[in-house]
This record gives sequence, C-alpha cells and structure tokens, in this order.
Amino acid sequence: MAGSEPHTPVVSNLSPTASDASGGTLTGGAVFIDRDGVVNEQRTGSYVHSWRDFAFLSGAVDAFIALADANIPTFVVTNQGGVGRGYLTEASLSAIHDNMAASIREAGGRLDAIIHCPHSPADGCACRKPRPGMLLTLAQRFGLALDRSTFIGDNVTDLEAGRAAGVASILVATGEGARSAMRLGLPPIVGVRATEVRCEQMPGLAAVAPGIASAVDHAIRNHRRPSEPCLQASDYIERNTVNRPARAPEH
Ligand SMILES: [Mg+2]
Ligand SMILES: [Zn+2]
Repeated sequence: MAGSEPHTPVVSNLSPTASDASGGTLTGGAVFIDRDGVVNEQRTGSYVHSWRDFAFLSGAVDAFIALADANIPTFVVTNQGGVGRGYLTEASLSAIHDNMAASIREAGGRLDAIIHCPHSPADGCACRKPRPGMLLTLAQRFGLALDRSTFIGDNVTDLEAGRAAGVASILVATGEGARSAMRLGLPPIVGVRATEVRCEQMPGLAAVAPGIASAVDHAIRNHRRPSEPCLQASDYIERNTVNRPARAPEH
C-alpha cells in the first residue's frame, strides 16, 4: 500500500475489534476527527516529521477515552499532503501513527482506524479534504451511517468535507479553528463547552467548541440523533455578548 495507488486513501492502525461492514461490528454513527490542530499541536509552516514532533493537545487522549466509554466508532481522518509533496515518507508517517494509536489505546481510548490522504493538491484525488472521499471510504468499508456521524475539525476544509458527505461538523478553536471561525463570519469561539450554532455559509456546521474534549462531549451527547444542525443559534449569540477569554483552557 504505502499510498502507492494515486487516488486511494490509506487506512491504517485498524483496531483488532474493528471489522469491515460485512463483519457488522460497527453500525450506526461514528465520530471522525481531524488530526493536526485537533488531536495534536499544529506545527506552523511545517509538517510533523517524526513522533518527537508530535504533541497531543490538552484533553485529546481523554476525548478518545470518553468515546470508548460511549462505545462510538472513532476514526482519525487526515490530509497528509507532505507525503505526496515528498516532505514525509509513508514509513515516517506510519511510525507517527503507530505511536499515536498506541498512546490512545494504552490509555483506554477508542480508535478504530486512521485514514489519510497522501496526495498533493496537484494529484486531484477524491480523498483530499475538502473532498469527502475519506469519509465515504470509511462509511462503505465499516457500514457507518453518515447522517448519524460527526466530524470534528479545525479547518474550513474539514467542515466542507463533512458537508459534502452529509456529516454534521463541529469546529474547534484550536489549530486553525479561530481563523476558520473568522473566515466563516462566526464570532470568536468562547466559553468552555460546545455551543450549537447556525452558519449560513456552512449549513452542516452544528456546533463550535473550544477544543477536542468539549467537541467530543457534544458529539456523544447528541449521538444517535440524526444530524440536525442549526439548533439554538440564539444560545450562541447570547453567549457571545459576554466578554470572556477567546480561548478557554480544555479540562
Ligand atoms: Mg487540522
Ligand atoms: Zn487523496
């Protein structure tokens, strides 16, 4: 494999308990999580080249533990264009993902698989976000219900991929999130909990959250309910009249 097929995303670190749709162990909705800027610190202007460069964001491992407790299929979905551009080998990426998956699982977290797009933008593949190919691949392979799933991301392209696949999304303030909120004309993301939101530019966006822990908490509380974005926009607007720090710490 190793990303050799130019237009196919790579599924790795499959959990021993995960099985393909024919096995039927994964049904219903899933939580999809972007990697850089959501699970781990984004390196400005650079790629994560090795495990030494990888730093979990606050609350990230606990979020995977919460997903284990809630028994929700959980996937990391990440563009790794550094592979296609030749800045990062599949072997290096594989070592990073092996360590990441082991850290999450040894702590008791749930991670069913990681899927990445190794292609550069010039490849024009169907899997690089904002395209929905990775979500569609996972849904087909594992029998997931996209309309009961949630995508947690920090970039507008994550939200666009979710929208294209019919998956509700949650925007986190970490990584590129604060900039993404601005680009979408949203007020700064404040408070310590996720807040439901309505965004005309991004109809699939269901909520904003300060980080992965609060986003996962929201996804778990709304799980099993078919995706129903655009609830209680007034709550978000009210909260944003209160002057609070733009980025609250994750607990
Ligand atoms: Mg990201
Ligand atoms: Zn791709």
